[in-house]
Amino acid sequence: MNDKKVSQIGEFGLIERIKNLLGSEVIGDDCAHLKLKGENLLLTTDAMVEGVHFLRRYPPEAVGWKAISVNVSDVVGNGGTPLWVLVSLCIPDIEVSYVERLYVGMKKACEFYGCEVVGGNISRSERVEISVFLLGRSDRPVGRGGAKPGDGVFVSGTLGDSKAGLELLLMEKRNYEKFELSLIERHLRPTARTDYVKHLQKYANASMDISDGLVADAVHLSRRSGVRIEIDSSKLPLSDELKKFCEKYDKDPVEYALFGGEDYQLLFTHPDSRWNPFMDMTKIGVVSEGEGVFVDGKRVEGGYTHF
Ligand SMILES: [Mg+2]
Repeated sequence: MNDKKVSQIGEFGLIERIKNLLGSEVIGDDCAHLKLKGENLLLTTDAMVEGVHFLRRYPPEAVGWKAISVNVSDVVGNGGTPLWVLVSLCIPDIEVSYVERLYVGMKKACEFYGCEVVGGNISRSERVEISVFLLGRSDRPVGRGGAKPGDGVFVSGTLGDSKAGLELLLMEKRNYEKFELSLIERHLRPTARTDYVKHLQKYANASMDISDGLVADAVHLSRRSGVRIEIDSSKLPLSDELKKFCEKYDKDPVEYALFGGEDYQLLFTHPDSRWNPFMDMTKIGVVSEGEGVFVDGKRVEGGYTHF
């Protein structure tokens, strides 16, 4: 049993084993939800690894910005605001200026989100790895469990842009069109949706950020809530840039919106009456009794997994 490789049980199979081994009831949301003297704390951690999440030739300021943003996104996805950050940095013997530029990006992000790097650790390694630990708080934390049959399923912003941006980056073209640059920007410098925190705190029954891709994350939400999620693919919010990209390279934008990762938008459920026309939220489906995620009536699974 124990000589199985991680790829044989998958990232989520591994998490399940760790959770059982630790006997933890807390593990399973974007953040750990903890109470300390009546205060609701949210703790999360996420790493950016060279060769997995970014390449050395990317602007280090962007890598630093993203390392903070992806963690803030988990706190925001649980209806919280970010407070304090620890950074664990693993690096080979590289230029000092590279490290400084990473931290310029992290500082900019922290100023933008209203949080602060308060410490960390540096260790030597084969490649650049930035592990961020973030502590946030919330008046009312919202997790993946809690979606109710009858709720509408909503997302913020547009979906699929980051995957298109990544593919464009990897093409290493000499000249990019304007819409292509804006997709690349969305991959390199995603922005956590702090503008949704109040809305989620007030109205959401379940909520998470979309990092692995809409379908994969909807599967997580449906499992933890014990509900069925039905998505109408004609309702998926697509940016003009993504549509242009798909036209130019003969791709299907719906595939990008369903399975593309790293958009760092939000997926949440609440009654339809809580839809806010002044925010960029789109109703893409409904919650019902049962299990599984269905797109246009067909059961789906999949998205990004690390193994
Ligand atoms: Mg997440």
